[in-house]
Amino acid sequence: MPTQLIAKYDTRIPRYTSYPTAPHFHAGITPEIYRGWLSGMSDTQELSLYLHVPYCEVICWFCGCHTRGANSYSPVASYLDVLRREIRLVADALGGGRAPQPVRHLHFGGGSPSILSGADFTTLMDDLRAAFTFRDDAEIAIELDPRTTRPDLIKAMAATGVTRASFGVQDLTPKVQKAINRIQPLGVVERAINGVREVGIDRINIDLMYGLPYQTEENVRDTIANILPLSPDRLAVFGYAHVPWMRKHQNLIPDESLPDAPARWDQATAARDMLLDAGYTAIGFDHYAHPDDDLAIALANGTLNRNFQGYTSDTALSLIGMGASGISELPQGYAVNDGDIKAYSETIMAGEFATKRGIAVSVADKARRAIIERLMCDLRVDIAATAELHGVDISDLRADYPRLAEMEIDGLLVREGDVLKITEAGRPFVRSACAAFDRYLVEGEQRHSRAV
Ligand code: SF4
Repeated sequence: MPTQLIAKYDTRIPRYTSYPTAPHFHAGITPEIYRGWLSGMSDTQELSLYLHVPYCEVICWFCGCHTRGANSYSPVASYLDVLRREIRLVADALGGGRAPQPVRHLHFGGGSPSILSGADFTTLMDDLRAAFTFRDDAEIAIELDPRTTRPDLIKAMAATGVTRASFGVQDLTPKVQKAINRIQPLGVVERAINGVREVGIDRINIDLMYGLPYQTEENVRDTIANILPLSPDRLAVFGYAHVPWMRKHQNLIPDESLPDAPARWDQATAARDMLLDAGYTAIGFDHYAHPDDDLAIALANGTLNRNFQGYTSDTALSLIGMGASGISELPQGYAVNDGDIKAYSETIMAGEFATKRGIAVSVADKARRAIIERLMCDLRVDIAATAELHGVDISDLRADYPRLAEMEIDGLLVREGDVLKITEAGRPFVRSACAAFDRYLVEGEQRHSRAV
């Protein structure tokens, strides 16, 4: 266990699901600007769509998502009316009628989209298919809570063409589940996964976590040993980010119950070793994919990308986020919807986009974003080639090389001229290399999750 390295690099660093990162978004990106970005899109531009469902039946205390508890279905039903209105607004801005841009990916996230009734999910999918032009091979993915994945929704998912289901599992240890307010025995997970497979949805993702309250390395091992027989196509192993100043419910998790940095390291390492031994391919610093899965194929092809949902095989240049707090990533920049459900709903129902913040990306930002994305995805980047591709001055990028010196000395990164390679030992610390090229990063910033 590289204790010194953990101490040195266990700082709070962005997860780089965007660049510039979200804390640098500002109110200067207005609904009018966002509408202009959409209206300027060519008919052939491929699209990805993201729909945010910000409701869960019960809130897990570790949760860092934008969601709230729903005691009844009525707020969810009202919210869906708003979402359907936003779908129409976006399609109209893109060209009206059925927007011509081909859709490659559709992702339902949250919150828990499994809170939706089968009938409502069908209506939503009907609206989406009426508003957008889906490619025949489009991936349609949905995040599900195994506890609330009901037969009527599974049936509707199959009937409407869902291709991938992603289940939150985290850890199967009763003591850990109690401490995070998420009681979910293995049988519940098995039932949900078998249910979607039985209707033909056979691409399965599972999310696990380390660093949870009272969690031990043995708990992580036992959880993975129980999950592997379910043969998921992908697994994500996320480190718990304890940020109670941002997520009030995390105050219900006592500080003293949390594993320290070396224990977190051991848990992440145990997970990685078990998944690699089981034949999974490591994707970046926190994902694992079966060699036949699209993510592993994208990694091999050099087409792996990163967006707000994490690692993706999606190559569409435009991602349109809908719903409260939905984030859009367009060639011109990022635009974020109001996260306040009431304010978001009132604005959309008045016929206006609910853009609250965002940032336009400059050519220099795009070059740095490309460097960060290649490092995060391929663990390798050719800075000279990137500078040339984006038409930026390479000396500006080379000026950041000294910030990588410590990583080179520590054997985490190798620099050969303008080519940077993260070593296998450096994989868990790849975000630290990305940070060297992050012009916006404020040293010592406390807003981000730990690097390890
Ligand atoms: S079900 Fe998922 S989104 Fe909802 S509170 Fe739990 S972790 Fe968060």
